[in-house]
Amino acid sequence: MPIATISPVTGETLRTFDALTPEQIEQKLQRAANAFRSHRRTSMAERAERMRRAGEILEADKDRLGRLMTTEMGKTLASAVAEVEKCAWVCRHYAEHAAGMLAPRPVDVGKARGEIHFLPLGAVLAIMPWNFPLWQVFRFAAPALMAGNVGLLKHASNVPQSALAIEDVFARAGFAEGVFQTLLIGSDAVGGLLDDPRVAAATLTGSTPAGQSVAERAGRNLKKTVLELGGSDPFIVMPSADLRAAARTAAKARCINNGQSCIAAKRFIVHQDAADEFERHFVREMEALRVGDPMQDGVDIGPLATASIRDEVDEQVRRSVEAGARLVTGGKRMDGPGFFYPPTILADIPESAPAYREEVFGPVALLFRATDVDDAIRLANDSDFGLGSSVWTTDEGERARFVTEIEAGMTFVNAMVSSDPRLPFGGVKQSGYGRELAEFGIHEFVNVKSVWIQ
Ligand code: NDP
Repeated sequence: MPIATISPVTGETLRTFDALTPEQIEQKLQRAANAFRSHRRTSMAERAERMRRAGEILEADKDRLGRLMTTEMGKTLASAVAEVEKCAWVCRHYAEHAAGMLAPRPVDVGKARGEIHFLPLGAVLAIMPWNFPLWQVFRFAAPALMAGNVGLLKHASNVPQSALAIEDVFARAGFAEGVFQTLLIGSDAVGGLLDDPRVAAATLTGSTPAGQSVAERAGRNLKKTVLELGGSDPFIVMPSADLRAAARTAAKARCINNGQSCIAAKRFIVHQDAADEFERHFVREMEALRVGDPMQDGVDIGPLATASIRDEVDEQVRRSVEAGARLVTGGKRMDGPGFFYPPTILADIPESAPAYREEVFGPVALLFRATDVDDAIRLANDSDFGLGSSVWTTDEGERARFVTEIEAGMTFVNAMVSSDPRLPFGGVKQSGYGRELAEFGIHEFVNVKSVWIQ
């Protein structure tokens, strides 16, 4: 893939970048190793001050940064600006709480003094996707830098300007040279970095194949990884739910970020007693969404980020209809330039259809009917993924069963799944392992050292 900004609205290449040479990569690796030696010795107060400053810079620059993301990957400007604000929040959150999360903990070991310390590991390589160009990076970098690690970012090849802007935010915030560096490289350079002893660990957000490849190479080097991969989240609606509210949120949860979110609701599993009414409301909500230029006010859905993502979504829908799925609305790629795809609903999807098993990374909702709560849980768990889940019910017994029996890293009741710095974020099964955010996130990239003082 070229390292380039290609407008998803017009398909035009706006800017290209050369990949770093091996010599430049070497320099940056050495800079990271040098920076780690001093950054690990900075006090929590110093780190917190810089992280707070990063948050302030983000707030002050949110319109420019938002426009940059919209230009590179097509999310609506309003959602891009909100994403920058969320990045500022995660900076503030860890600036405030990291010291407490990483404070040495006393342990009663009898006559000696026992303590647990949380020490940094070194340079952490972050391999990140284009769908939330800033958020995916800040939710890794804020805890990692507060813990005393340094960051190396290999961002997706279609968001190079966002990648460089992030490096600039941390530099302006006062983090020393080398504490956070963007590497403009293709994915073919990642293996060499994982082999390098100056890289201590890696985190990847992206597709399952990319995660497998990075985990394999990191595993050979015995390096810790955190993987946040795809999802095909269930959204279960039971008869006790407010069906209008559920349908409104369902459309939002499916089409957030133009349908390109790992935690977007993708499979809508509705109890048969509520199915017809829910479908009516849901179709109306999906058809009301406005597709268009993401820079314009009032547009709900911009283009998909790349031509290949749009082609893949189109192909998944076409083959699913061929396999017997019922096309309720949408389902035809839109004419004209750009990578636009309309809000789409498929129902009665047979197990043989691609949409039944694969992640569909676009505004395509899959509708299923469940006969009872057992059937809803069975359908929800009949997936290789296990990232988020949303369940709509006012019945406490049902709620308890969903919370304990759905195989997912997150269950939201009567709400759509979202990430929040205060709650751990991550999945099970093919959705990956490890957790981001909250205290669990900051503890992923630390040496948990036991100390015994006699
Ligand atoms: P990828 O997983 O291919 O890309 C994510 C990141 O991983 C990018 O930085 C990419 O670099 C890098 N990468 C890709 N392959 C490798 C590899 N073998 N070794 C090291 N790094 C690698 O996502 P795509 O953009 O290709 O999207 C494909 C599908 O992945 C989507 O349709 C969706 O299903 C899923 N996806 C899920 C995301 C999520 O949030 N869970 C986010 C993005 C995609 P480069 O850009 O240079 O290829």
